Parts: sequence; structure tokens; C-alpha cells
Amino acid sequence: MRSGTFFFPGPTEVRREVLETMLRQPMQHRTPEFERIYDTGQRGLQTVLRTERPVFVATASGSAMMEAAVRGAPPGRILAVVNGGFGARFAAIADACERPVDRVEFRWGEVPDPEAVRERLAAAEYSAMTFVHCETSTGVMSDVRALAAAAREAGVMSIVDSVSGAGGARLETDAWGVDCVVTASQKALALPPGLAFACASTAFLDAMPARDRGFYLDLAEYAAHARNSQTPTTPAVSLFYALALQAAAIEREGMDAREARHRAMLRLMEDWVWLTANELGIELAMLAPPDARTPTVSVVMLPSNIAGPALVRAVAERGYVIGAGYGPLRETAFRVGHMGDHTVAELSGCLDAVRDALLALRG
Ligand SMILES: *Cc1c(COP(=O)(O)O)cnc(C)c1O
Repeated sequence: MRSGTFFFPGPTEVRREVLETMLRQPMQHRTPEFERIYDTGQRGLQTVLRTERPVFVATASGSAMMEAAVRGAPPGRILAVVNGGFGARFAAIADACERPVDRVEFRWGEVPDPEAVRERLAAAEYSAMTFVHCETSTGVMSDVRALAAAAREAGVMSIVDSVSGAGGARLETDAWGVDCVVTASQKALALPPGLAFACASTAFLDAMPARDRGFYLDLAEYAAHARNSQTPTTPAVSLFYALALQAAAIEREGMDAREARHRAMLRLMEDWVWLTANELGIELAMLAPPDARTPTVSVVMLPSNIAGPALVRAVAERGYVIGAGYGPLRETAFRVGHMGDHTVAELSGCLDAVRDALLALRG
């Protein structure tokens, strides 16, 4: 695969240098050498999440840390903010863990209204609230600061899924008072799938339930081992090599520059949708409202005569990978993951291919 062509909204494209660093013998992990690699990864993750706290690393996909956060939420009812597929997943995880959960629902493509959430928080007794930073199913970005504040004012712990946000969209874990944030390796961090990350406040860790936290996903175990730059069980050492290399690269770029690059990709996407719709005389529209679009992934609604999977195939024939709509939007939308290490120039090449494919399918 040619580099600069893989625009799937997760997993995302991984640079050759990052892939090649994994071609080393996996080292023994209870060693100072591993701890140094762990520490390099830590510094990068703390920069990404803008936090001073340790960032726990599990060998798992992102959903594992979503489950760890739900299991670790203080005893009591959970309020799940649902405005797309991943917000719904949090509620499903709570159900599966037999935690009482209520949903506050918004339409797919809608931004969670902090006022509406506040009202729901006041209507019953909750211990924690889950929500999604960047809804990969709709391209909507939530106001994390406002939602975390609403939770805090209600005395409720905030748990944020920033799996497709962290590393691309601004997230100020400490300054915004988020109690627990979870993310994963294969989205805006541009690493291979397989590592999941969580960062929790001291208040969150102190309020965890005494039982039913499980074994593999017990954040207390991660916290205890993190003090020694270790993980509770055997880590995916090869992925830690990749993490350390990518963490250093992210530090060199700087989060301000990285976020600006992502915003520039979103702007290109927005201009392209408008121009292409006019030029080809077809209906194309971003699903998310203008002031709440994630800089990491765009969901574009298609005209009724062009199906998402058909467009994905036509784009693949032109050498680029994009995604069809997620879940119920599979046929009616397409998704472009403009996150990670992609550049505006690469995205422009991808969008040329999408335009060409639309032209061919327009009939
Ligand atoms: C990708 C993603 C996840 C996690 O998915 P996994 O397959 O478990 O890694 C969770 N939330 C969001 C918003 C995502 O984009």
C-alpha cells in the first residue's frame, strides 16, 4: 500500500518507521530497559492528554478501557449520554456489567446539549456519567469542558471516550476536570491497534467500588503498577516499542501544531464538500453541524442514488481507503478518517479520488 492513502476512520495509517521499530525481539518486561520504554510512552501520552497524572496502558482495544472505566465508576446509577454508536456502546457496557444505567439520547448527528444533560443529572441520583468526545459514527464533537462541568456540579464523575479524539482534537484532561478519559492506539495516535489507555483522577480512583472491578481491567491494579513504570500483566511489548517512538514524534511536533494540522484537514474537508456538491450538481452534506465537527473524522451524507459501500469500492479502485457510514448510516453516508499523521496534501489526494468516484457513480 502506498503511504498517504489509508483514510479509514480507525485503524488509521501507521508510518513505516513505526512499523519497523516493532521488528525487534520482544524484551522481557520486568526490566529497567522496558521501564525506560514505558516512561517514554508515558511522557507522550501525558502530553497528548494534557495531564500530569499517569496514563494506564492495557493490551486491548479501546472498548476494554471503556469497560474498565464503567467497572471502576463509583457505586450507583450511571447516566450515558448517547448521540451515536459509541455513546450507545458505553450504555451497553454498563448493561453487560450489570450496572444500573439511564440514557439521555440525542439524534445521530446532534451535539449533546449540556443544559439538557444538566436537567437529566438533576432528575435522579447518579454516580457517574459517560459521554463521547468525538463520535466516530457521526463526526460530531462534544463540548467536553461543558459536559464535565455539568457532571462536576451534580457531584457526578465524568467518564469520557476520546478514542478518536486524543492526539488530534484538543482535550485538556486536567484543566477541564475530566475524571476518567479513555482512548486507544489505532486512531489519532496513528499506532497499530492493540493498546488502550486510561487516565483517572485521584478522586475517581478513591471512589471505585470495593468489588466487581474484575481482574484484567481493574484500574487499581494499573495504578499500582504504573508507579513502577509497569503493567499488571504481560504487555504487548512490540506495541510499546511503537508507542515510545510515536510518543517522541508527537512531542517533537507539539500538540498545538498537531491539533492545528487536524483542524486544517477538517477545513479542507468542509470546503471540498461544498465545492464538490456544486461542481457535480449532487447533494452532499456533512452530518455534523458546522460548530461541532471533530477535526479527526468526517461523516458525509450521500445523494440517494449513491450507496456508501459502492462509493468505498469505487474509491478503492482509485487507490484510496475510506469508510462507509457506521451502523444505520452504512448505505447513506461515507466516512473519511483524517487523523493521525496524515497531512492536508495527502487528504487532498484522497478527496480527488472521492470526487472522481462520485463523478463515475453520479450517472
Ligand atoms: C474506535 C472507537 C472506540 C473503540 O473501539 P475498539 O474497537 O474497541 O478499539 C471507542 N469509541 C470511539 C469513539 C471510537 O472511535
